[in-house]
Amino acid sequence: MLHGKNLIAGDWRAGGTTFAAVDAASGAAIEPRFYEATAGDVADACAAAADAQHAYASLPLAQRAAFLRLAADKIDALGDTLTQRAMQESGLPEARLIGERGRTVGQLRLFADEVENGAWQALRIDHADPARTPPKPDLRLRKIPLGPVAVFGASNFPLAFSVAGGDTASALAAGCCVVVKGHPAHPGTSELVAGAMADAVKGAGLPAGVFSLLNGAGYDLGEALVKDPRIAAVGFTGSRAGGLALMQHAAARAVPIPVYAEMSSVNPVVLMPAKLDSAAEDLAAAYVASLSLGAGQFCTNPGVLLAVDGTALDRFVVATAKALEPVAAQTMLTGGIRKAYESSIEKLGAYDSASLIGRGAEGSASCGRAHVYAVSGADFRANGLFEEEVFGPSSIIVRCVDLAEVAAILGAMEGQLTATLHMEEADRADAADLLPILEQRAGRIIANAWPTGVDVTHAMVHGGPFPATSDGRSTSVGTLAIDRFLRPLCYQDMPEDLLPPGLREVDSNVWRRVDGVYMA
Ligand code: NAP
Repeated sequence: MLHGKNLIAGDWRAGGTTFAAVDAASGAAIEPRFYEATAGDVADACAAAADAQHAYASLPLAQRAAFLRLAADKIDALGDTLTQRAMQESGLPEARLIGERGRTVGQLRLFADEVENGAWQALRIDHADPARTPPKPDLRLRKIPLGPVAVFGASNFPLAFSVAGGDTASALAAGCCVVVKGHPAHPGTSELVAGAMADAVKGAGLPAGVFSLLNGAGYDLGEALVKDPRIAAVGFTGSRAGGLALMQHAAARAVPIPVYAEMSSVNPVVLMPAKLDSAAEDLAAAYVASLSLGAGQFCTNPGVLLAVDGTALDRFVVATAKALEPVAAQTMLTGGIRKAYESSIEKLGAYDSASLIGRGAEGSASCGRAHVYAVSGADFRANGLFEEEVFGPSSIIVRCVDLAEVAAILGAMEGQLTATLHMEEADRADAADLLPILEQRAGRIIANAWPTGVDVTHAMVHGGPFPATSDGRSTSVGTLAIDRFLRPLCYQDMPEDLLPPGLREVDSNVWRRVDGVYMA
C-alpha cells in the first residue's frame, strides 16, 4: 500500500502540503496524495547523507557491490506492482516498462561488477627516486567520491532514469550517498522503488543516510537541494530551462558544484545520396517508427533529418507520409508535456517555410499525434526555431541543395547526444568528410541505425557538447558515468600503513599503473 511519505534516511515522514498523483491517460487524480518535502526534510536528508558519506565511501568494494546487487534484487521483486503503477502514472505501455525495469536492475548489477573490477579508481604509483636531482617523491593516485549527490528523477524514464536509475546507480557505485528529488509525474512509482532501496540499505547493514527520497511538485524543493552545502554534485535529465536553472543555482553557491544535466538534443540524421536512392522507402518506415516510439518522448528522438533534394528524397517524403498515417496517437507522460508538444507543433505549422509532410492518427486529449514537417536548407539556417527540441513524436526533414549545405548545417548545429549517417559503400568518401564535423557536435555517432535505443555498456556515451549536456566530458549512461562523481587525489610520501587499499605495495590483483606501466 502506498502512503505518500518522504523517505528521510530510513524514516518515512509525513507532513507538509500534499499533491496528487495523476493517471496519465485520464488526467484523473489517483490515490494516495503525496507529501511535499519541507525545507526541514531537505536539510535532514542532506545531513544524514553527509553523516553516512565517510562510512559508505570506506566500505570494501565487494560490500559496495553486494549492496548494489541487493538493491537490484529488491526492485526486481516488486514485479508487476511496480510496472502497473508506472503504467498508470506515465501512460507508457507495459512491455516498455517491463523492459525498463530490466534495464534498471541490469545497470545496478553492471555497476556492481564495475565497482569490484576497480579500474575506475585509476590507481597510479610513481615510486620515489631519491638519487634524482631534485629527489623524486613517492606519488600515489586514486579517485575518490565527491560526496552526497542530488539526483533529479526524469519524467520520461520513470524507472531507468529516476529513483534508482542511471544517475543514482553511478553515484552509489562511485561511493556517493544519494538524495533523490522524485519527479512529480510518478510519485507512486518513486515510493515503491525508494522502499526497495531502503530495504537494500538496511539489508546491507549500511547507514540509513546512504539513500533518501524527497517528493514535491515545485521548484523550491529542487533549488533547496542543489543549494544545500552538503550536496557535492547533481545529476539531472529534463528540460533545458530546468537544467540551466539548476546550473545557475549550483554556480551561485559559496562552494560551486558540478551539475551533470542532460537537456536537449535533436539528434540529426543524414541520409547519404546512394543509400537514399537505394532504400528510400525502407528508410522512411524506420524513420517513422523511430520518431514515434514511446510517443517520441526520448532524448534521442530523430528530430532533424537532412538529405540532398531530388527524386530520391521525394520518394522518401511520400513514403514517410504514408507510413505516418496509421501511427496511433499515444498517451503522453503529463498534461504539461502534451501541451508543450502541441504548442511547439502549432508554432512550426505557423511558418510558411515549413510544410506539413504528414500526420499520424488523431487520439484522445491526453495523446500526442505524430507530425513531420519539411523545410529547405536555407530556411533551416535562417530560423533557429527549427533546431529546437520538440519533445514528442515529431521531426523535420531538411531539403538541402547539396552535401556542402548538409555539412554547413551540421557544422553550425548545437551540441547533440547523437548524430547518424545512413550510407552505403558509394557514400563512404562523402561520409568521411562529414565525420570530423559530427565528432565535434555529438556524443555518439551512429552508422545505419536509428538513435532511439541506448545500450547500457562500458563503451556507451550518452552525452555530448552543450546543450545536449551541461558537460560534454561525461556520459550519463554506461559504466563511464561513474567518473562524474569522482575526483583524483594524490598521496605524496605517505607511510605504507596509512595508504588506502589498492595503493600499498603489498596490494595485488588490482589494476594500476606503476611507474607508467599498466599492470594487474
Ligand atoms: P523539467 O521541467 O525540466 O523537470 C525535471 C525536474 O527538474 C522536475 O523535478 C522539476 O521539478 C525540476 N525542475 C525543473 N526546473 C526547475 C527549476 N527551475 N528549479 C528547480 N527545479 C526544477 O522536465 P519534465 O518535467 O520532465 O518535462 C518538461 C519538458 O522537459 C518536456 O516538455 C521536454 O521538453 C523536456 N524534457 C526533455 C528530456 C530530454 O531527455 N531531452 C526529458 C524529459 C523532459 P518540478 O516538476 O517538481 O517543478
